[in-house]
Amino acid sequence: MSFKVGIPQSLFFYDYYPLWKEFFNELGAEVVVSSKTNKSILNDGVSSCVDEACLPVKVYHGHVMELKNKVDYLFIPKIISIHKREYGCPKYLGLPEMVKNSVKDLPVCIDANVNLFKSNLGLFEAIKETGKYFTPSFSKIMKAYNIASNHYQKYRKLINKGVIPIEALKIYNSDTKLIRSIDDNSPMFMLVGHPYNLYDEYINMNLIKKIRNNGIRVITPEMVDDYKVDYYSSKIPKRIFWSFGKRIIGSSFYLLDGKKIDGIIYVSSFGCGVDSILIDFVQRKARDEGIPFTLLTIDEHTGEAGINTRIEAFMDMIRRRKKNENNIPTYG
Ligand code: SF4
Repeated sequence: MSFKVGIPQSLFFYDYYPLWKEFFNELGAEVVVSSKTNKSILNDGVSSCVDEACLPVKVYHGHVMELKNKVDYLFIPKIISIHKREYGCPKYLGLPEMVKNSVKDLPVCIDANVNLFKSNLGLFEAIKETGKYFTPSFSKIMKAYNIASNHYQKYRKLINKGVIPIEALKIYNSDTKLIRSIDDNSPMFMLVGHPYNLYDEYINMNLIKKIRNNGIRVITPEMVDDYKVDYYSSKIPKRIFWSFGKRIIGSSFYLLDGKKIDGIIYVSSFGCGVDSILIDFVQRKARDEGIPFTLLTIDEHTGEAGINTRIEAFMDMIRRRKKNENNIPTYG
């Protein structure tokens, strides 16, 4: 009988799911993923989590609630640092402790520390700590990780080729090809923000689909090459030490530089301390380059009608600007 490992479809899911799934499968475990975010997951998350948390952390709690009675283990890694000399946001550094204190009757939580702040050795520690729940053999654990890593590279390559991560996950899961119907000369918007805000279709109310339905292409930070992110993020005077923050700044500066996009939409969670700094950088750069910028702030009370009105107004403004105003920004 194989053990069941639950993976919440939230937070780091969009970054690492293929890696985690193959790793656990190679170790003989069955992976169970929570449903896509829905009303009941959101409500469970809001009622079980502390009020001060941001929306993605609350939503994560809801996914844990959905999984907790269906699995033998819950995978809730403590992601402290994923790159040398960089950190994650304090609100998810304490995620395993938060969940354990807020949600009752949990199965065993696999809460390995992922800390690469000093060196990559931290990764091996995390792999070993996670694998030991299934086998004492370090060589078996490393073999499973190497196989999983090869699968993961295929997923990353799809994203680097211009496939949006949620579509790359569908291709990865079903082994089918998605056909894009939008022609390559259509306008392009950048959607910028943390992956769990950009790719959770429930909390952002299907933003990508809404934009594409208007014949507009969408690009997101994960689709920009790492070396461009590193280079463009180093252009600001102070080094960004949040990994997601560096990607947001580097990718948006690259796309704004030389006007490679027609508009930029920042999707942020209400009360996000990290975004309160990043938004200002991106907005100023957009203004310097004359590219329209808008900010969508989401929380558990956000209504779809309000989001639709904002997006439609933004798209209308860009169409009119292109047609009548010779691309002169509204602020001169
Ligand atoms: S970066 Fe912002 S949205 Fe993400 S976990 Fe931290 S506070 Fe929440």
